[in-house]
Amino acid sequence: MKKIAFLDRDGTINRDYPDEQWRNVKHPEFLPGAIDGMKKLLESGYEIIIVTNQYIIHDGIITMEDYSAYTEKFLTELSQNGIEILHIYFCPHNDAEECHCKKPKPGMIEQALRDYDIDLSASIYCGDSEADYLLAKQFGLPFYGIDYAGEQKDVNRCTSLLDVYNALSS
Ligand SMILES: [Mg+2]
Ligand SMILES: [Zn+2]
Repeated sequence: MKKIAFLDRDGTINRDYPDEQWRNVKHPEFLPGAIDGMKKLLESGYEIIIVTNQYIIHDGIITMEDYSAYTEKFLTELSQNGIEILHIYFCPHNDAEECHCKKPKPGMIEQALRDYDIDLSASIYCGDSEADYLLAKQFGLPFYGIDYAGEQKDVNRCTSLLDVYNALSS
């Protein structure tokens, strides 16, 4: 069985922007500690699955082609750093579509559980938003909040993915 580090993308691995600004973003800007943190997580036996809300696709801010081009650059740069991502699940829907995958809805992790043999009890979730927190808690996953603003008590508060690794190994 796989132990998984479920990671949010924007604001957790790469820089996030106000929705409209994503129109102009062509290259990922990795956050401090993100690449080193992912390397360390892989070295300690986690595989990485990314779960990301991309409602800006169906809101018309970016196209599917923009999303795919960004993803290709993102994965290439990670691969050049020796980081292979097991899978990226993304939700292109906006709220009006009432899909089952937009975080904190459980669809993306449910799909991951169908696609892979995952040991949830050994897995973790890292993200920066309340949707991430709520999703993690539905599956009983320990939540590592990256600069997380929510006041819930059961949050492991971290400043980067490298900091998550340090918290795990301390
Ligand atoms: Mg985020
Ligand atoms: Zn969706």
